[in-house]
Amino acid sequence: LTFKKTYSPLSSAEIIAKEKANMDEKRFEHCVRVSETSRELAKLNGYDEDKAALAGFVHDYAKQVPVEQYRKVIKEQDFDLDLLNWNRAIWHGIVGTYFIERDLKIRDPEILTAVRRHTTGDVKMTTLDKIVFMADFIEPGRHFPGVEEARKITYANLDEGVGYQLTHTLAFLIEERNKIYPRTIDAYNFWGIKKD
Ligand code: GDP
Ligand code: FE
Ligand code: FE
Ligand code: FE
Repeated sequence: LTFKKTYSPLSSAEIIAKEKANMDEKRFEHCVRVSETSRELAKLNGYDEDKAALAGFVHDYAKQVPVEQYRKVIKEQDFDLDLLNWNRAIWHGIVGTYFIERDLKIRDPEILTAVRRHTTGDVKMTTLDKIVFMADFIEPGRHFPGVEEARKITYANLDEGVGYQLTHTLAFLIEERNKIYPRTIDAYNFWGIKKD
């Protein structure tokens, strides 16, 4: 695993070492697989493969940052204070970019936006946003009913993959009676609904 361009003053080896130190082995392996899947989706969709591979690698950099650090950063760094009503499932994308900028020194807006949108999706999504969002959902370590269908759809058409994921995640969250982040619903209304 190496990144030719890191979009950071840090080297590929330094970024990999910092990421490894910030999460457990299981999460790290997931990030490696999301990186590889992002690279494949980039190739299929005419996007910069190395940039996609890096964005996929760092997407969950902050997933295991302690809750107290998140609460402090949300309050001190001018984030929407409504975020305090949510949890790490929502924070690690939207607020996680703060830790990526701080620790990995990645400031590329496309990469940071893709991380920001990787959990909820959004109405507006760039090609890189869609690549990371879908790679996270279909990477080879994912095993859930529908994942094969998700892979098939996504490899055929990235936008349809986005619609499929948003529909299935929303249905799952509602089934479990979880609180839905409004952006997830907005994204579903844009990408998920049948257009006929
Ligand atoms: P991961 O970080 O690789 O586990 O994957 P994601 O970042 O895509 O998702 C993290 C968790 O957030 C998953 O369990 C999702 O189902 C969940 N999630 C996604 N959208 C929402 C939402 O609107 N509300 C809540 N409560 N959870 C969500
Ligand atoms: Fe995530
Ligand atoms: Fe995701
Ligand atoms: Fe992930």
